Amino acid sequence: MSRERLDKILALQVTDSRRDAGVMIRRGAVTVNGNIVKKADFKVDTQSDTVTVNGEPLSVKKFVYLMMNKPAGVLSAARDTRAKTVVDLLPPELKRRGLFPAGRLDRDTEGLLIITDDGAYAHRMLAPKSNVYKYYEAVLARPVAEDDAAAFENGVVLKDRTCLPAKLEVLEEGAHPLVRVKIHEGKFHQVKRMFLARGNEVLKLKRVQIGALTLDAALAPGETREMSAEETASVF
Ligand code: URA
Repeated sequence: MSRERLDKILALQVTDSRRDAGVMIRRGAVTVNGNIVKKADFKVDTQSDTVTVNGEPLSVKKFVYLMMNKPAGVLSAARDTRAKTVVDLLPPELKRRGLFPAGRLDRDTEGLLIITDDGAYAHRMLAPKSNVYKYYEAVLARPVAEDDAAAFENGVVLKDRTCLPAKLEVLEEGAHPLVRVKIHEGKFHQVKRMFLARGNEVLKLKRVQIGALTLDAALAPGETREMSAEETASVF
């Protein structure tokens, strides 16, 4: 069940401001399931409640969950005064207020990014206790050492802390191998720092999976599409 404040829903869809929404609500212009509600902080179930404004039914939009194939070179942020952000890249038909990336990828990292307006969903996804795994593919500067996989399994030791156990698989050998890494932390530069601690370096990084949600191969870098309810749930 998703609950949202009545004034927030009105501000998003009708008035453009919470203040004006509050005035409208206190005037008695708004009903929820047939009853006049005069409290701005009244919690509406966005899946099942019926809201009317001046007698007109309002389609209470549910939260949206978007899958982006983030290209390199854009910021994982809702807005920035100078740099282009992932939200700037959204096509007009998917844009709406309140959208933000659930978690961050470095500016030069590509791949799977969820963009939503559901704060509780993002919070749950990022909370360590949710134990959501993330999978990355990385191109490395040097071949993988024999004991790297065991070191990842045991928790790579960084300057300030020890990482949680992670899985390292070599997908393509070579001078610049392609590897797959599974982690369930999202600390700053996590994957890059793990390889640096092993005397290697990440040349290219792409997130390919979050939980059971895999990046749609049909999405070109920079493209975004809405996720199904099953996909949204498959993260956990
Ligand atoms: N680890 C990194 O080093 N960078 C990212 O963008 C994501 C994980």
